[in-house]
Amino acid sequence: MNQAFLSTLFFSLLFVSLSSCSQNFESKKSLTSAKKVNTDSLQIQQFYKSEDTLNSPSESIGTVGRGSLKNGKIFPFYGPNFTYFAQESYRSKRAYTSDAVRRIILNGYDQLLRAHPDRHFYLMELSHQKGGKLYPHHTHQNGLSADFMMPKLKSGKPDYTLDTIGLMHYFLTFDNEGRYEKDKNIAIDFNLVAEHIYILSQEAEKLGWTIEKVIIKLEYKDELFATTYGQKLQKKGIYFAQRLSKEVNDIHDDHFHIDFKKQ
Ligand SMILES: [Zn+2]
Repeated sequence: MNQAFLSTLFFSLLFVSLSSCSQNFESKKSLTSAKKVNTDSLQIQQFYKSEDTLNSPSESIGTVGRGSLKNGKIFPFYGPNFTYFAQESYRSKRAYTSDAVRRIILNGYDQLLRAHPDRHFYLMELSHQKGGKLYPHHTHQNGLSADFMMPKLKSGKPDYTLDTIGLMHYFLTFDNEGRYEKDKNIAIDFNLVAEHIYILSQEAEKLGWTIEKVIIKLEYKDELFATTYGQKLQKKGIYFAQRLSKEVNDIHDDHFHIDFKKQ
């Protein structure tokens, strides 16, 4: 069986397991209801607190594509301006990362809260507690990889309609200009994507870390680098993956992936 088929199978199984309990795909969830999801998630936040008792520093072993993680730290399910995107993924313990990467991402959300107090962000999959293969991702093995959901606009205004559908978000399809295939009025907010990446690179550097690589659908680079923050990213020399297999390229239309590394 080839990789593409296995990926499809995996996600199909997730889809089946999700369809009975996940939010209604068609429901038009607003930012207000996204915040309500937060207040309804106290139970899952308790899980985060109970699991996060390890004080030992994290250790990332090997590479993002072949590695493991010692003393992985679970990411908070939500904060003032962010939510982890899928309870199923969280409960399956796929939201662990290294202490440094957790700090970088949290500090990034703090900066975004200052810059855009009206916006909400969704974090996607991270790593297993002890790292290793996080099927079907090719990387995410040593606690240094993170997936970030694309922020979206509908007719120019922040839109969260597609952000609360859980794991199914990975299935969404956007065209080469970042417009949602089923409603072209919903489009990726490329300047905010670029700003988020820029902030993450700054927060990483403050802690002696850096962005090793960003993976985003190759066709989006024109849109991204045309924005104000996109130009800053280019000036800063942040590395974006240059070549991707069709499978990997296609799946990075609804989220961007970042690998971090120590400077
Ligand atoms: Zn990823």
